[in-house]
Amino acid sequence: MNKINETHAPDLRSWVGSANVAGCDFPIQNLPFAVFRRRGSSEHFRGGVAIGDQVLDIGAAHQAGVFQGEAAPAAAHAASSSLNSLMAMGPRAWSALRLALSRMLRTDSPEQEQLRNCLIAQEQVEYTVPARIGDYTDMYTSVYHATNVGRLFRPDNPLMPNFKWLPIGYHGRASSIAVSGQRFHRPKGQIVPPGESSPIFTPCRRLDYELELGIWVGTGNTLGKSVPLDEAERHLFGLCLLNDWSARDIQAWEYQPLGPFLAKSFATTISPWIITMEALAPYRSAWTREAGDPQPLAYLESTGNREFGAFDICIEAWLETSAMRETESAAHRLSHSNFKHSYWSVAQMLAHHTSGGCNLNPGDLLGSGTQSGPGESEAGALIELTQGGKLPVDLGLGQSRTFLEDGDAVILRAWCEREGAARIGFGECRGEVLPALD
Ligand code: MN
Repeated sequence: MNKINETHAPDLRSWVGSANVAGCDFPIQNLPFAVFRRRGSSEHFRGGVAIGDQVLDIGAAHQAGVFQGEAAPAAAHAASSSLNSLMAMGPRAWSALRLALSRMLRTDSPEQEQLRNCLIAQEQVEYTVPARIGDYTDMYTSVYHATNVGRLFRPDNPLMPNFKWLPIGYHGRASSIAVSGQRFHRPKGQIVPPGESSPIFTPCRRLDYELELGIWVGTGNTLGKSVPLDEAERHLFGLCLLNDWSARDIQAWEYQPLGPFLAKSFATTISPWIITMEALAPYRSAWTREAGDPQPLAYLESTGNREFGAFDICIEAWLETSAMRETESAAHRLSHSNFKHSYWSVAQMLAHHTSGGCNLNPGDLLGSGTQSGPGESEAGALIELTQGGKLPVDLGLGQSRTFLEDGDAVILRAWCEREGAARIGFGECRGEVLPALD
């Protein structure tokens, strides 16, 4: 588990002025990684770190000779077109690189003049998926989401008995994961119209989003060798935002007995920036399990996980309709919640995933599962907010939604703030629905 160190000090300031503006997602205490290039150029994609409203081109900085010692090889890997090899290096290298970046971006840094030419405005860049994702696993770890959705599908039996014993998940598709800005066509599939018993093949009528965090695997594990809970976080590189778009009508028909298939595999959108586990150290909180619930089996139980296993991360989902864009009206906030409500911690998810011997690889991605909180306004998907499409959400401007319409864009945001620590943000994860193809 990462300790608080000099890179987290709340009074640190950067010579990049925009990083010091209150409310900025990317102050010097954050230092997340992405893969980028100048927008519309044919440049190679390469690794960068966010500082204020700029991207520091890590490869250009490395060529300027500013990295020494253990940070130098880590910077070389971070500069490449995907972050897999940086992820494979492990926490010691990640930490050395973070410390070097923190020191060279501080107000009194002697490297300041060399680094000015290595900055590019974020508004001038485009991003790509930051690592080659070998495998994508979608978890299901919010007891509130599982209960709310379970009640709609199975009113008499909302929560399956296994939910409180293990982090539920299924193996998803990596091929359709794209970075923020993704625009995808409304999926088609088999749905059973209300009151009928046979399916038709048609564009989805109940398209939904899911407010999730993405969990990036850093170092992998050997096939057959499980990762103990207290070592699990050493295998995690960081977190991002993740929208697990879902076709509820396709899902309702296909999901038994093996779980979602085409209802989830048409698109998944992630935010470009990976917030490292070390950056998240100040925002840890206790992981708790109510006394009346089953307590974890030994391989999912530890003192460290109880004391610090959860993360206090505020999360929000916003909807921007095409009418809002045309009238330049503000997007509508659909819901807000917090990742600390997750029934299972990220360490438990990884430990459980490997407990049968499954090997994870650098750049593998886990979706946390929709993170709904206990309150009605904390639901992380439209199916919950509208109680299965029965209660439309009022968006103002005479608009409402039960499910997503063509032209709708969903924007996810997240941030951490705590007394005695800097506020850090995740940036945004935006995706837009296009009409179904003929
Ligand atoms: Mn999901």
